[in-house]
Amino acid sequence: MLGAFFEIIGIVILFSSVLLLAPIFSGCFVLMFILILLSGLLIFFSIHILWIIVLGVFLYLTNLIVRYYKWYKLPTFNTYLNNNPDNNLHNIACKFCHFGKPINMGLFSKKSKYRYYMCKICGKALYRFTVL
Ligand SMILES: [Zn+2]
Repeated sequence: MLGAFFEIIGIVILFSSVLLLAPIFSGCFVLMFILILLSGLLIFFSIHILWIIVLGVFLYLTNLIVRYYKWYKLPTFNTYLNNNPDNNLHNIACKFCHFGKPINMGLFSKKSKYRYYMCKICGKALYRFTVL
């Protein structure tokens, strides 16, 4: 009996708060605002489609360059071995978490010429190499 009473009170409070938070005026205003924003974006995109394509290509190229630069900053295999003396040719481990089996990754695609080894556990790139 008491539970049902609280349920009804809860529903009344919920509905009244929804009504209070969304009076007709501001609800309409928000809807109008979203519509204006969306149509504005649509017009903007159709007018500036060329610039958006240019921007997209620019961002894509920047991404490629940043990726290549990060890859280039990685140590080579020999440097990695020299810097981490506990590693040897048969036992390469991650220098951050010491997990044993790094995975071979391509930089730009799976078959990319520029490759690196990445730790499976902590996800950090360890060293780079290039396929001839
Ligand atoms: Zn690791």
